[in-house]
Amino acid sequence: MAERAKNAMLEVRGLKKYFPVRRGLLQRQVGWVKAVDGVDFTLEKGKIMGLVGESGCGKTTTGRMVLRALDPTEGEILFRKESGAIVDMAQLSNREIKEVRSEMQMIFQDPYSSLNPRMPVLDLIAEPLVAHGWSSRDCEVRVTELMERVGLDPRYIRRYPHAFSGGQRQRIGIARALALSPSLIVADEPVSALDVSVQAQILNLLQQLQQDLNLTLLFVAHDLSVVRYLCDEVAVMYQGRLVEQAQTEDLFTNPRHPYTAMLLNAAPAPDPHASWMDEDVDTSEAGEAGDVGEGCAFAGRCRYASDRCRSEVPGLEDAGGAHIAACHHKDEVELKGV
Ligand code: SF4
Repeated sequence: MAERAKNAMLEVRGLKKYFPVRRGLLQRQVGWVKAVDGVDFTLEKGKIMGLVGESGCGKTTTGRMVLRALDPTEGEILFRKESGAIVDMAQLSNREIKEVRSEMQMIFQDPYSSLNPRMPVLDLIAEPLVAHGWSSRDCEVRVTELMERVGLDPRYIRRYPHAFSGGQRQRIGIARALALSPSLIVADEPVSALDVSVQAQILNLLQQLQQDLNLTLLFVAHDLSVVRYLCDEVAVMYQGRLVEQAQTEDLFTNPRHPYTAMLLNAAPAPDPHASWMDEDVDTSEAGEAGDVGEGCAFAGRCRYASDRCRSEVPGLEDAGGAHIAACHHKDEVELKGV
């Protein structure tokens, strides 16, 4: 872990997000929903990390907290700036966040709702530049360059979003995210709203941009086939906690957590263009992230569960190499038959 931290662009430590649960006429607080409950991970410079899990596992909340689009309840978000200085995003004031924002940006899931339909492409992509004081002329030059880079014809610079297809709109979203030359991008399910054929084009674009610009990407996704295609490393979340993290091929061929193995067993084939998880995995028992109480949150679904699992929460432990897993029986896990 110490070796990995040397090249760290982002280190997340003990990150938590609790939402109050209110009931009754007076909306009294009766408890907490622990959407994210103590997440730790390190993302190296120039790498793509997939953050995966079922709906409600806390992955999107984690991604939003990294950018401080959402305030954490607790924890550290250590970001290495281009200057080499390390800042804790969790501690920054709004003014300080604005300064750092040029170095970290977000690509949103839905290219339809994330773009203002009343703004032409020029203004949409230039918005972050304008906020940082760029002149109109410089904005137009930069937007033209960005459109070319993401595969859009700059002749359409004054067209509105409705004139573009779903894939083209996501390219607009990507160009906008790149406008200020960020070093870290959080991509929140950036292809899940697109047709399968278009997904591949956008994934190839992201891969090319990552290589050309040496970007660091936190790729939030539910689709493991997409993650396998794009990511160097994968972190798996379950009910607000990280349960496994490994290099991508290691995780896909040698999962050490029963939950990861269950997800992989549901995949019919390692087809990089297949989208299987929504349809094929029974998530009915997953529930929403909440208070897991004593013991392992996965125990009720796990064929390896023992008495120890029901009384002791497993912590993340070394599972060989750069592989870590939170399971008392990680050495017994098999890819088939979970
Ligand atoms: Fe299953 Fe026990 Fe591992 Fe939890 S700790 S995943 S219950 S074997």
